[in-house]
Amino acid sequence: MPMTYDEQVLQIKHEIVSLGKHLYSEKMIVATDGNISVRITEHSFLITRSGICKGKMTIDDILTVDLSGRVIEGVGNPSSETRLHIVCYEERDDIAAIVHAHPPTAVAFSIAGKSLAICVIPEVVVALGPVPTIPYITPTTQRIAESVRPVIRHADALMLEKHGSVCVGADLQTAAARLEKLEHSAEIMLMAHQLGGVRTLAPTEIKELIELRDEFNLGGRNPLCSSCIMGCFEGVPPMEV
Ligand code: 13P
Ligand code: ZN
Repeated sequence: MPMTYDEQVLQIKHEIVSLGKHLYSEKMIVATDGNISVRITEHSFLITRSGICKGKMTIDDILTVDLSGRVIEGVGNPSSETRLHIVCYEERDDIAAIVHAHPPTAVAFSIAGKSLAICVIPEVVVALGPVPTIPYITPTTQRIAESVRPVIRHADALMLEKHGSVCVGADLQTAAARLEKLEHSAEIMLMAHQLGGVRTLAPTEIKELIELRDEFNLGGRNPLCSSCIMGCFEGVPPMEV
């Protein structure tokens, strides 16, 4: 028998709880860091409660909010980054899940002013493309949410300078896998920096990888598929490498 709407929502709540535990155990978030949301109707989504440890939450810590941020179901305040989640859902009707985390190596890159918007690892070029960093703005504000708007149109993963990551996907698993890939590539790049430097792929090599994306019919949005091959698209100046 197919699941009812309520059963489906309950199942998604359990998936959010289990992803919170996983991200906490992987140290992608500590203390009360991060937030997770999943779209459940055209106008509403589930989101984690603000200020709780997402590694220890229960399904009662997941609220339903509408696209104006109003709580429809659940007790307490939704994530302080709810505005950022709303902007992503407004811009992308192809996504149904958002994971905001504080992956330590990737965040360290943004603190050091080192870009992740470079093409180095073939797998990452194909799956994510260069990961843009949004210049620092106070977390949780409408201003940071609005600064995400032009970037999320072209990317499935981005960094908020000195703060954290935003990864989106058609489902929770896809968004979480993008976060994992982002942090893993930052770890590899850190080691390469320590070993003497990062060598980027050549434009012709990058072009071939982009052609592979079409061949494998990968979903999502990759900045390299936008007009500028080096990832400096609308509203986002290229960063220093
Ligand atoms: P919330 O607990 O309010 O979701 O905040 C966590 C966070 O990472 C803010 O950027
Ligand atoms: Zn945060």
